[in-house]
Amino acid sequence: MKRILVTGGAGFIGSHLCEYLLGQGHEVICLDNYFTGRKANIVHLLSNPYFELVRHDVTTPYFAEVDEIYNLACPASPVHYQYNPIKTVKTSVMGAINMLGLAKRVKAKVLQASTSEVYGDPAVHPQVEAYWGNVNPIGLRSCYDEGKRCAETLFMDYHRQNGVRIKIIRIFNTYGPRMLMNDGRVVSNFIVQALKGEDITIYGDGSQTRSFQYIDDLVAGMTRMMATDESFIGPVNIGNPHEFTILELAEKVIAMTGSASKLIRKPLPSDDPTQRRPDIRLAKERLDWEPHIQLEEGLKKTIAYFEQQLKTI
Ligand code: NAD
Ligand code: UDP
Repeated sequence: MKRILVTGGAGFIGSHLCEYLLGQGHEVICLDNYFTGRKANIVHLLSNPYFELVRHDVTTPYFAEVDEIYNLACPASPVHYQYNPIKTVKTSVMGAINMLGLAKRVKAKVLQASTSEVYGDPAVHPQVEAYWGNVNPIGLRSCYDEGKRCAETLFMDYHRQNGVRIKIIRIFNTYGPRMLMNDGRVVSNFIVQALKGEDITIYGDGSQTRSFQYIDDLVAGMTRMMATDESFIGPVNIGNPHEFTILELAEKVIAMTGSASKLIRKPLPSDDPTQRRPDIRLAKERLDWEPHIQLEEGLKKTIAYFEQQLKTI
């Protein structure tokens, strides 16, 4: 049994990870400031004596004797990370410094939840880990993209300078139950709009692409990465390589919900990447991992979750 710290543990991904780790027999400390996370996401875990919930902001240091740290604390939806961009940078950068400092002190292994956003609007397709990216350093998305890039730099430097045991994963668009209804990301937006019979908001002409990964596949990939030996630190892409246009996603959601919603166009946000698809050869080779849940199956589960949520409001 390990003692594992999950920052951002009350968020969408964090709550699934906490649940999985407890199920594996570990002790879990879930740390969150509830900016985009909710107690409702982890309330079912509170009765487990091996689960501890801590209200804490990662921009200030935190100390606990732990064996492993998953550093997930950071808003992930453009709407939320642009709400207070200075805070977003602080969360990524100071959060990384504080978690790396903790890992150094207690000799824990620490995994950083990085992102496909480090590739920006990619000129290389599909994206391989060796690609350095195409990021606007002064745009509206930079607080997130550059914050995450700087966090990767810090992870590498703590590893090289202090021998901290690190792991970096670059997560591609992930969806599933427990996303916030007002999360603002495309899968939750489209499903909620379709279920409510509201217009489906297509930003731009909908020809931009994304590759959507179901949450369970991500949890499998990230825990496999944590379990690798010390010689493999990443970064490694964790995502589903099936690529869809945003219009295709909208049509799928409408068909699956039987909704009468209409598609409407909204302006494309600035620096919105035109294409995104992970090259997952490295993850296949080093983690013996690949996603198993394809879009239709994942959407079915996510639609069922939001249907239930809408009944309770
Ligand atoms: P989320 O917003 O649901 O979860 C983030 C969690 O971090 C929330 O619980 C929030 O309250 C918490 N948090 C934010 N700032 C904090 C702070 N200063 N101190 C403590 N807690 C703080 O988003 P998510 O989709 O679950 O993303 C989790 C992580 O995975 C993030 O680091 C995100 O950048 C990364 N990621 C997610 C995706 C995706 O598609 N979901 C893609 C790439 C990377
Ligand atoms: N998008 C959209 N309508 C929405 C929300 C998002 O067309 O209601 C588009 C958005 O412009 C982007 C894609 O869907 O091209 C994915 O957006 P999301 O915010 O989910 O993630 P990210 O841009 O960070 O990949």
